[in-house]
Amino acid sequence: MAGHSVTVGSVELVSVSDGFPIRSPLMPFPDTSLEQWREFPGMVDDNDQVSSRYGSLVVRSGGKLILIDTGLQAADGILLEDLKNKGVNREEIDLVVFTHLHPDHVGWNLVGGKPTFPKARYLVPQKDWDYWTDPIVMQNAEHIPSQVLPLQDLNILDLFDEDEYRITDELTTVHTPGHTPGHISIIVSSAGERAYILGDVAHNIAQAHYTDWSPIFDSDPDLARVTRHEVLDMLEAEGTLVSAGHFPDPGFGRFIRASGRRQWQGI
Ligand SMILES: [Zn+2]
Repeated sequence: MAGHSVTVGSVELVSVSDGFPIRSPLMPFPDTSLEQWREFPGMVDDNDQVSSRYGSLVVRSGGKLILIDTGLQAADGILLEDLKNKGVNREEIDLVVFTHLHPDHVGWNLVGGKPTFPKARYLVPQKDWDYWTDPIVMQNAEHIPSQVLPLQDLNILDLFDEDEYRITDELTTVHTPGHTPGHISIIVSSAGERAYILGDVAHNIAQAHYTDWSPIFDSDPDLARVTRHEVLDMLEAEGTLVSAGHFPDPGFGRFIRASGRRQWQGI
């Protein structure tokens, strides 16, 4: 699948998706205007809708096969098919790592009560676990008892501290809170090359320019905004290769400065 995989030193990143929802951009971003969305060439269709993506990432690093996030598992979800199409056998996945515990990131953990990735340990950021397993929060988060808690009962779930957890020698987490309390990004560093797995620090490429925009999914919009400015400023200054789950397929690219604006340049 040309275009869906990149190498960073000796690490391979393969982009996979669970689907491509289409909706009004004013749903996730109610404080914005359609005029602003129309500034971006090709962003809105004739019905003023915007396409998004439920993206996951397969990473080959240090002899391990790793899946970052597991999609939504809507009725028309395509993650398992997409893994197969891109040559990934779900039964060989060693680790599943979550950037955070939103429903569109934990969807395919289990099918019919059985782990979809039977060999894998599932790694959950501690602060997201603490937040989402609060009984009051769980009342409005049905995906936690259905797709996350069973992993603990099956004894295949491990918690990790958000900052600087080493998944492998080449993959290190960094705490990027705001979207959720325990949200993480992942730094890939191998043979002098680097990449950054963004998670949901940004939800749409429009936030490259409108970095203050917070989607309704940010649990702490002010903190999310601070985190987003810091991370995007750094990625732009360093020209780092980025993988972003909700950005247009395959979600690889860089933040660049052109025509006086920060922009997303997909590759
Ligand atoms: Zn998301």
